[in-house]
Amino acid sequence: MATTGAVAALALVLTVVLPVVLPAVARDASGLRTLAGGLLPELVQARADGRRAPQAVLRSRTDIPREVPVVPAVAAPKHVDPGSAATPEDVRGATRLTWPLPASCTDVSSRARGARPPRLPARTGYSTDPASLGKGARLQRVYAVRDGRLSPLDGLGPADRCDRWRWEVLRSGIPAAHLVALDQVVLYDYPPEVLQDPSRQGGIRTGFFEPNPSDPTRYRLAFATGLGAQEQLLTMAHEVGHVVSLYPDRTRPSRDPRCPWVIDNAGTCAAAGTPLVAFYAGTYSAEQRSRISRLYADHRQPSADELQAFHATGPESFVSAYAATHPTEDFAESYAYWCLHGTSRDAPVEGASTAGLAKRAFFDAEARDGRLDARVCGPWRALASRG
Ligand SMILES: [Zn+2]
Repeated sequence: MATTGAVAALALVLTVVLPVVLPAVARDASGLRTLAGGLLPELVQARADGRRAPQAVLRSRTDIPREVPVVPAVAAPKHVDPGSAATPEDVRGATRLTWPLPASCTDVSSRARGARPPRLPARTGYSTDPASLGKGARLQRVYAVRDGRLSPLDGLGPADRCDRWRWEVLRSGIPAAHLVALDQVVLYDYPPEVLQDPSRQGGIRTGFFEPNPSDPTRYRLAFATGLGAQEQLLTMAHEVGHVVSLYPDRTRPSRDPRCPWVIDNAGTCAAAGTPLVAFYAGTYSAEQRSRISRLYADHRQPSADELQAFHATGPESFVSAYAATHPTEDFAESYAYWCLHGTSRDAPVEGASTAGLAKRAFFDAEARDGRLDARVCGPWRALASRG
């Protein structure tokens, strides 16, 4: 069954990882969200390498459905919450968290480096390719998550206080049901010359999550350090948004032709009623579903111009231009803004303060109806308001 495993592994690399990689590519240090360099570069690379996937595999990657089970549309609330979304209880819940991290934790030039650079560990099921971190990135640390603590996998000794603080903030925002499936935390940075390179119009990859190809119910998270506090929180919340949309047990491998949405090349089915499908069905108009499914139809890679044009048809629908690039990215991005800012008019969305409000309200409704653990967002909202 090695062949099957290899196909599945390749499929996962080409798919589930990619949507997560994209926001980071698009989210650069200056806040510009450009999409230069084209989308889905790994997919292009795979084709250039002549690796041919079976037809069924090719079908699924771009299979954004036009038709989904009909659900009542999510209405934007009549009134935006005034002011900060953090409650006094949220603030109390965050008192033990160190945030923003001191400058010594985010200054990449001050980070101690061993004689030999660390490597992504082999035999854990995850990618060992350093290129998976992003172009120009330097691996800093690799930790296993054991009993709620970071345990070094790179031979570089225990986590320092910066990483312990970082971890406490991250874990505080992951719902318990998903925290148990987290295997590893990977930290990396970019040297100043990469960050300051004006040719990097696509920005840097600020974080991603990666499902384990040999057990897709488990995953690891990777983050660039050296970001501003708000950008770091937003990246954490975005990646947790992907986790919430997909894991655990939110999706199942399926070859059922009636599956409403095959989200990756491994055949994972986002069944009707899963948060991702509910989000797509409830917050996209029929016209938007038709447009976005056409953009990705027949394995197409939409150009940056095409995606920006799609965003321009309804910018009030999305918390950011990046959110409009793909419904799975929209889920993660909308979750991030909602988790950090709720439906507050202070949310730093792109455009009008009401941008993406219906999507943020979707998560309110999910939490209210018990399908989403919103408690974890409380402390993060307090951190987001610390500035
Ligand atoms: Zn993403």
